[in-house]
Amino acid sequence: MAVAVQLTHVTKAFDTTIAVNDVSLEIEKGEFFFLLGPSGCGKSTFLRIVAGFYKPDTGELRFDDTVMNDVPPHQRNTGMVFQNYALWPHMSVAENIEYGLTLRKLEKAERTEKIERALEMVQMADFRDRAVNTLSGGQQQRIALARALVIEPSVLLLDEPISNLDAALRQQMRDEIKQIHDRTNITMFYVTHDQVDALSMADRMAIMQDGVVIQVGTPREVYQFPKNAFVASFVGETNFISGKIEQASNGSATIETSAGTLHSTTIYHELTQGTPVQCSIRPEALVIDNDQNGGNPIENRITAKVTAVNYLGRVEEYQLMVSEDLPLKAVHYNPGTETKKPGDTVHLSISADAVIPLPNF
Ligand code: ATP
Repeated sequence: MAVAVQLTHVTKAFDTTIAVNDVSLEIEKGEFFFLLGPSGCGKSTFLRIVAGFYKPDTGELRFDDTVMNDVPPHQRNTGMVFQNYALWPHMSVAENIEYGLTLRKLEKAERTEKIERALEMVQMADFRDRAVNTLSGGQQQRIALARALVIEPSVLLLDEPISNLDAALRQQMRDEIKQIHDRTNITMFYVTHDQVDALSMADRMAIMQDGVVIQVGTPREVYQFPKNAFVASFVGETNFISGKIEQASNGSATIETSAGTLHSTTIYHELTQGTPVQCSIRPEALVIDNDQNGGNPIENRITAKVTAVNYLGRVEEYQLMVSEDLPLKAVHYNPGTETKKPGDTVHLSISADAVIPLPNF
């Protein structure tokens, strides 16, 4: 697979803050790549380096085989979609989209054809002549997308493009943006703090913390095999039970924890006897009062007290307490009529492959 964007040992600091710290990363051609991290971790700085608004202090940025460090933003052929749409309010929908084509000195007929196609792509063909300030937030974001796509960018950069929309519209836009990517196959680079954006749309994603890229992988790899406790808690929800490795061999381990001995068959770090670990266990892996063993030869059992029950229709969430300093959260999908009450004692079973001991770094 050809590489579209490559960063090699890129660093960018502002006074004493190292916003992007020695990052090396490759985005493949046609890939939908996400940078996911909490507020202040350096996402926008990273995006601005790719767009050309910031120059790296050290390191190299390449598009295809060309070093871009000194290429100004308007010569990079990147499209950009911002959280606040950044449309020109005094212009019509078509004029907003046409702007980049006029700058590129395209003939009128070609401009008209490309505007039509871009509007169809975002399903806004009927809105061609509307003033943009009469459109809803979701419609404006579609026009911002059309405006960025119409110039056929080598890379489309998206900076939290759907954060301003309500929950239902966000979900709809996720589906639409993903479909646009699948149809156009444009290389897309999307930065967000929203794990659902990344999990639902990304081909691959990078998880960033304090300017450093901690892990790169597909959504499935990152969710199922988080590199450390930060990634496990930032991508999805998880419980942590701290402990120490008692013995580890051939991808299995027993761990002495504050909830008793746990068995794990999901070991992918170097762990030896005595290593302190955080055992990550997803809420959906805690099965309440299940007498059958589910066919799994090794299962862990923990007793806990219910402290709160939250019925949400599709799922039921349980807040549990194993001991005073060990709370756990369990979720039960497709809950029936039976439920638990605060104060009930429950027996949790946890499959050994759902216990993931992570080193403390
Ligand atoms: P958010 O999700 O809140 O937008 P972010 O992950 O995009 O955050 P950045 O905006 O890249 O993070 O900021 C990373 C760090 O660099 C922060 O500590 C921020 O305060 C600092 N920073 C960013 N831009 C500047 C600047 N122009 N001058 C000084 N410090 C800056």
